[in-house]
Amino acid sequence: MTSTHLEAAMAEGPHTGEQIMQLDEVTKIYPGATPVVALDKANFTIRRGELVAIVGPSGSGKSTLLQVMGTLDRPTSGTVRIVGDDVATLSDRALAGLRSTRIGFVFQQFFLAEHATAVENVADGLLYSGTRYGRRMAAATAALGRVGLGHRLDHRPSQLSGGERQRVAIARALVGNPAIVLADEPTGNLDSVTGNAIFNLLTELNAEGTTIVVITHDRELAERLPRRIEVLDGHIVADVSSAERPLP
Ligand code: ADP
Ligand code: MG
Repeated sequence: MTSTHLEAAMAEGPHTGEQIMQLDEVTKIYPGATPVVALDKANFTIRRGELVAIVGPSGSGKSTLLQVMGTLDRPTSGTVRIVGDDVATLSDRALAGLRSTRIGFVFQQFFLAEHATAVENVADGLLYSGTRYGRRMAAATAALGRVGLGHRLDHRPSQLSGGERQRVAIARALVGNPAIVLADEPTGNLDSVTGNAIFNLLTELNAEGTTIVVITHDRELAERLPRRIEVLDGHIVADVSSAERPLP
């Protein structure tokens, strides 16, 4: 981790309202015979302690947005800052370090290792942190407790329901205590009751202090979150915060 701003911010400890992520005129064009402008000059800031929905129909650019926010892909133009650092100025190695220690990812497809138990899958979230095995397993056990799966430590993914698998994936995203969790359609493979429970869990984790951005095409689920950024055809068309839950 070469990122001095990040180190300083972490050393200061949590304080509400600090800028975790800033997008400034972020554009992503996929080249080809007919280039696709998947994202056109996106601007917004995510602050510590927020719970934000990015909502829009299929093909509107949500996953592209998550990829550039998560430094999984570089924008064609514009700037992404994570805790003050322009990610374009970071080396690939520094970026990999930032991604593995400061950002937690949750995906629609869970992406769990089938041969590994729940606790091993979660412990893998700390593989690149230099944490020793015993501590990784202890942290993973605690993280599974936080998502309500303290009784499923030794189950393999095939022995878990869809909702439980997504809880394991959420525990893996949380285990390193990241600055921000990015979830792309985390309820996309779940029935509506289970999806609702996952949204409740994300809300609880946010109440405990985790900054979370959830991508969804489901307007009803998005409406339950305190801030909604709406995307349509690569444009941010609205950025609305609920009056009853003002921004920190
Ligand atoms: P969403 O997640 O909202 O469904 P995406 O970000 O996946 O939207 O896609 C936005 C647009 O970019 C779509 O038109 C999609 O077809 C296009 N797109 C996404 N990924 C690629 C890619 N790797 N190459 C070319 N076009 C892409
Ligand atoms: Mg998508």
